[in-house]
Amino acid sequence: MDRLILAIDQGTTSTRAIAFAVSPQGDFSAVAVSQVELAQHFPQSGWVEHDAAEIWHATLRTCRAVIAEAGGIDGFAAIGITNQRETSVLWDTATGEPLHRAIVWQDRRTADVTARLTAEGHEPMVQAATGLILDPYFSATKFAWLLDAVPGARDRALRGEVKLGTIESWLIWKLTGGARHVTDATNASRTSLMDLETRVWRDDLCTLFRVPREALPDIHGCSDHLGDCEASLFGGSLPIHGAAGDQQAALVGHGAMHPGDAKITYGTGAFLVANVGRSPVISTRRLLGTLAYQLGDNVAWALEGSIFSAGSAIQWLRDGVGLIDDPARSEAMARSLDDNGGVYLVPGFTGLGAPWWQPDARGTITGLTRDSGPAHFVRAALEALAYQTRDLLDALVADGAPRLAVLRVDGGVTANGFAMQFVADICDVPVERPPFQEMTALGAARLAALGIGLIDHLGDAAGAAPTVWTPRMAPDERARLIKGWQSAVRAAIIAAQ
Ligand code: ADP
Repeated sequence: MDRLILAIDQGTTSTRAIAFAVSPQGDFSAVAVSQVELAQHFPQSGWVEHDAAEIWHATLRTCRAVIAEAGGIDGFAAIGITNQRETSVLWDTATGEPLHRAIVWQDRRTADVTARLTAEGHEPMVQAATGLILDPYFSATKFAWLLDAVPGARDRALRGEVKLGTIESWLIWKLTGGARHVTDATNASRTSLMDLETRVWRDDLCTLFRVPREALPDIHGCSDHLGDCEASLFGGSLPIHGAAGDQQAALVGHGAMHPGDAKITYGTGAFLVANVGRSPVISTRRLLGTLAYQLGDNVAWALEGSIFSAGSAIQWLRDGVGLIDDPARSEAMARSLDDNGGVYLVPGFTGLGAPWWQPDARGTITGLTRDSGPAHFVRAALEALAYQTRDLLDALVADGAPRLAVLRVDGGVTANGFAMQFVADICDVPVERPPFQEMTALGAARLAALGIGLIDHLGDAAGAAPTVWTPRMAPDERARLIKGWQSAVRAAIIAAQ
């Protein structure tokens, strides 16, 4: 008989619960889904906040809805959690309430702190220890900001009266009625406080970032028993047996468990995570060294790179310049041309991510002629996805990562067959899209199923055959196009100086 796993997917814009049925053969199918949008707060330019209490209530609501729809708590065997990473919460252990709004990963309010630490020469040590560059993106400076902003919080942290954590820690603390203050190693790897190799909090980093160890959760593996949810919440208790940050959960969802396996999620932005195997890699190309997963003694590391504008460039064509009325229309417009006509679009709307890390770069279009029309803009925006992906894959190779046999993709943009073929052509690697798209939630469910012994490994994800795009571009054509892109990127960076 099928057993059910409850996956909680707490994302930046919504909170979702999905009930997965797991067959005796280990196949997963989604049988109930519930989703609640999450309010975004922008109190100042560059600040982004979420209400952690709202996140908790949305979690309860969505979990209750799918448990009811799937026939009640008795059919469920465990909970797995995946979450937006780095977003930081401070709460009061006595009241169980947040002491401030959560600071979201996109928030730049601590940019002055990381700039000062960089100027003081701390970045090489931080990167060697954590795999991460110094940037306000990561939790450590957000934690310190919260402790400074809430009166008395620093002293209370030393007495154990307030706790710090990322979203999975907050949810597990609430689900267990305050019994467990824990995190998993993938989420912990995004704080700038965890030693990437040994996976323990480092006292020197806690001191540097002014975060008391006493307020931090204990670090566990991704399919460990992380606690039991209180029986009163859902009409019965369930073990919480899996947790991983969203990008790592997607890696697990794709079954990318071997060195050289990689996935890229093309949504608003795009996130590449590549499994690099049994030891950490510290990037020389400003990729991020991070954890892929920790399953008991079975640990794998990853390199990660982000593209800030992927689908958002398509949204801009629709909302900013009105060239299309629907993202889906972009495919036919791109295909209406034989080639790019020499036009490149560098979508540096919010700066350029890895491997460029040029926060001040701006969007740039090069190569316009009197023949350029709307279709050239659209085609150039779609092609930019592929060039940016190629830049990340080149950085991976330069860092000594194993060569990819296949690039696994998910996310809204993968509906665009033109763009996916162009990714395959420019990156010279087959691109594979699984038929089931909820890779993040699936990864959390698979971790929990492994944790309770419902499945015995996380090898290749079973399921229906993927859609595959195979490279078919001639090498000299590829080289010519990439050269044009590189000139366009130089123009975008020069324009910002
Ligand atoms: P997120 O999870 O970041 O909200 P999604 O995975 O839901 O993103 O993907 C949404 C993005 O996909 C939007 O930016 C949209 O412009 C883009 N998109 C959706 N369909 C297409 C399409 N057919 N071609 C190109 N882009 C598309």
